[in-house]
Amino acid sequence: MSFSDMPVDVGPVYEGERIRGNQMLVELGGPKIDKKFELVRINQKAVDGKVVINGPDLKDMEKGKQYPIGIFVEVAGKVLEEDLEAVFERRIHEFLNYINGVMHLNQRYTTWMRVSQQAFEKGLNTFELIGTILIRLFKAELPIVEKAQVTFYTNDKEIAKPHAMAMDVYNARDERARGLHDDDVDMFYGCVLCQSFAPTHACCITPDRTSLCGSINWFDARAAAKVDPKGPIYEVPPGECYDKLAGHYSGIDEMMKKRSLGEIEKVYLYSGMEYPHTSCGCFEAIDFLIPEIGGHGIIDRNHDGVALNGLPFSAMANQTGGGKQMPGFNGISIQYIASPKYQQYDGGIETIVWMGKNLKDRVNEFLPADLRDKIATEEDVSDINALQKWLEDVKHPIINTDAYKNAVGGGEEEEEEEYEAEGAMVPMGTQSFVVPGAGGAGGFKVILKNCKIHAESIIIKRIDNKKKK
Ligand code: SF4
Repeated sequence: MSFSDMPVDVGPVYEGERIRGNQMLVELGGPKIDKKFELVRINQKAVDGKVVINGPDLKDMEKGKQYPIGIFVEVAGKVLEEDLEAVFERRIHEFLNYINGVMHLNQRYTTWMRVSQQAFEKGLNTFELIGTILIRLFKAELPIVEKAQVTFYTNDKEIAKPHAMAMDVYNARDERARGLHDDDVDMFYGCVLCQSFAPTHACCITPDRTSLCGSINWFDARAAAKVDPKGPIYEVPPGECYDKLAGHYSGIDEMMKKRSLGEIEKVYLYSGMEYPHTSCGCFEAIDFLIPEIGGHGIIDRNHDGVALNGLPFSAMANQTGGGKQMPGFNGISIQYIASPKYQQYDGGIETIVWMGKNLKDRVNEFLPADLRDKIATEEDVSDINALQKWLEDVKHPIINTDAYKNAVGGGEEEEEEEYEAEGAMVPMGTQSFVVPGAGGAGGFKVILKNCKIHAESIIIKRIDNKKKK
């Protein structure tokens, strides 16, 4: 496959390219835009090579502005089946990032792209070229795709209808997946598509734990592993179940150890606090510990503003992602919140005391009926001090737990002593950090395995380079 006729280079080497605000021509989708989506569907009547642009083309867009983006890819092929659509769809992220001068983040209805000014000046000035590159990559990397066509939607009017159609498709996929549970199957799946961004991350995809990007459920993974067993999505025999409550399986430990090159040795599928699942950067939401309450909050990628702890999604995402096991910050799919196994090792859904309002509205029907009105949102409480009163007023079940009593200072004396004796020791699992060399070059990586970190205080100092000089 050749891209010599293209004005910019195309290849995996450009994955991970970042385009800052001051380098971009335009932003497509992203947090400031209401409607954005990407969808793949099988259509045996797809016209190979066809690219349609509904709305303004790149060359008609105003520099520095944000626009809606809908990317609808239709594929044809004799052996294609519907379960493959979501898996193909996830490849849009990878393929667009192959283009030098295009940055693509997220998935489904959270697409966020930037096209660089530099690429535009080189001649990448139309979606026709981006669509053609996508089509070529789809056919080259997924040989069972025989024909492909792409349609772009780039204004509010054009995107409304296909966006609604895409949301219906995502909901139908999620609904189907909700009917199946981990105990019903004898095979799990893994995915390493995000290793270009997070080298120690692999997703464990089970019926109850949809991939944390939310785009690949157990059915999708099964179909992908069937057509390409040596590909980035593969079978993971669960092996021996060491702990049912934690979701601790020998097969998952083995897979994680192999795929993280020894950095991650143990994963509890249903815990955000002990040996949690690693997080890349594509998670739909973050389950975060609220230590002052002993409960958890959930913030999703589309949350406007800060969470209860004063941090926006982006700040917590930095803490959570990168392929690390970070107890207290766990990247999750929204679908996982609806699972009966949701963080059951940590106390389950009843530990959730705060959620972003939009997210709560979205998952409301899947929450236990007697908990729905007891989970606060930004409309109910504005800070952690107000949260404690709220929880006691609504009689949230967390207030009867030792975790809550210890956190707010009302625990039994004996428990308090035990807590103090252990200090504020947080089990951290495997942690790694990089020590840069002189002048920022070279350096080395330190990996702490099975460590517990106890700090009396953390001091964060800004390094003022001018002063240092
Ligand atoms: S988040 Fe997980 S399932 Fe989704 S593409 Fe990345 S590795 Fe694959």
